[in-house]
Formats: sequence, structure tokens, C-alpha cells
Amino acid sequence: MTLVVLRLFHRLMRDKRMSTHIALTARAFGAKQLFYTGSHDSSLEESIGRITEDWGGNFHIDHKENELSFIKKWKQEGGIIVHLTMFGIELGDKIVELKQKLNKNLLVIVGGTKVPSAIYHLADYNIAIGHQPHSEVAALAVFLDRLTAGKTRKEKLSNANVEIIPMEKGKSTKQKNKE
Ligand code: SAM
Repeated sequence: MTLVVLRLFHRLMRDKRMSTHIALTARAFGAKQLFYTGSHDSSLEESIGRITEDWGGNFHIDHKENELSFIKKWKQEGGIIVHLTMFGIELGDKIVELKQKLNKNLLVIVGGTKVPSAIYHLADYNIAIGHQPHSEVAALAVFLDRLTAGKTRKEKLSNANVEIIPMEKGKSTKQKNKE
């Protein structure tokens, strides 16, 4: 199974913070890769690269020119597409079915500006995290956490330079390469 995320229509400057948070959330909750369309942004890619270098794992971020051809190819190759939208079916009503797809390659799409209707039709599942508008970051975090039952966010990532030592109060880290 591969779990990856597609962020639609990234805009330079305006979406930098939101797209960074989407990437961090995807990575922290178990996705292996973030694809994004819209403007190519090397500073976004570099900042996520630095996080992965410090905090571990093999997370990748890649720009795609055309979301529709990327989504169609994913489908042709047998992958499943989940589009997160407040207009979809509430996650709780589909979670059992979605968990049965975890043996397949799963592409989770989050929007930004207006999402074209073609994406609603290409998606195998249009899933709502409640039917109120909130945020792509919140929707992604809840979706990935429910889908993986919280397991992926607890995994230790390989090759980390730094690791947190959890504590009730205060904060502490371990520099793994400096021991
Ligand atoms: N019109 C939007 C929609 O279809 O959900 C809200 C736009 S919101 C600024 C940007 C993105 O956040 C959406 O494209 C969707 O991926 C995600 N999002 C926001 N609220 C959501 C919700 N309640 N359920 C699922 N996804 C949501």
C-alpha cells in the first residue's frame, strides 16, 4: 500500500504556509509523498527536505504540471482516489469501506481555491470531515488519523538526526548522530 497526498493549485507566497502545513501533516500522519500542482515552489520543497533530514523518514515532495492527467493515470494504474470536500459523504459513514482499501495505492486530494467538478467525478470517494467549511490541513489530519487508526503518527521514523524524549513538563530532544 502507498498512501500519498495531492495538494491542488499551490500559489507562490499566498499558499506557502498552508502548503507547508499540508506537507508536514501528510508526513507526520503516515503519507509517503506529497504531490502538488499550481506554481512550482522550490523553497517549499527545500523546507520540507530540511525537516525530513532532521526528523527522519523518507518523505518526498514533487510538483505535477497537470492534476487531471496525474489523477487519471493513478486510476488507470489501479489506485484509489479520495477527495476531501465538505460536500462529500461524512467520513464516519465510509470509514469501514475505506479501511478495506488500505491494501491498494491511495491518493488523497485536498483543494485550495475552487476545485473543478471533474475531480469530484474522477474521485472514487468524495469524503467530508463534517459538513462545515474548515481547512485542508484539518481535513487531512483527521482523515489520515482515522484511516490509519492513529498507528502511523506513533511510528518511529528512520534516519532521524533528532528525536523527542516525551515528558510531562518541559521539553527535551536527543541528537542521534551526535552521541
Ligand atoms: N469548498 C470547500 C470544500 O469543498 O470543502 C472548502 C474550501 S477549503 C478553503 C479548501 C480545502 O479544504 C477543500 O478543497 C477541502 O479539501 C478541505 N476541506 C475544508 N473543509 C472540509 C470539510 N468539511 N471536509 C473535507 N474537506 C474539507
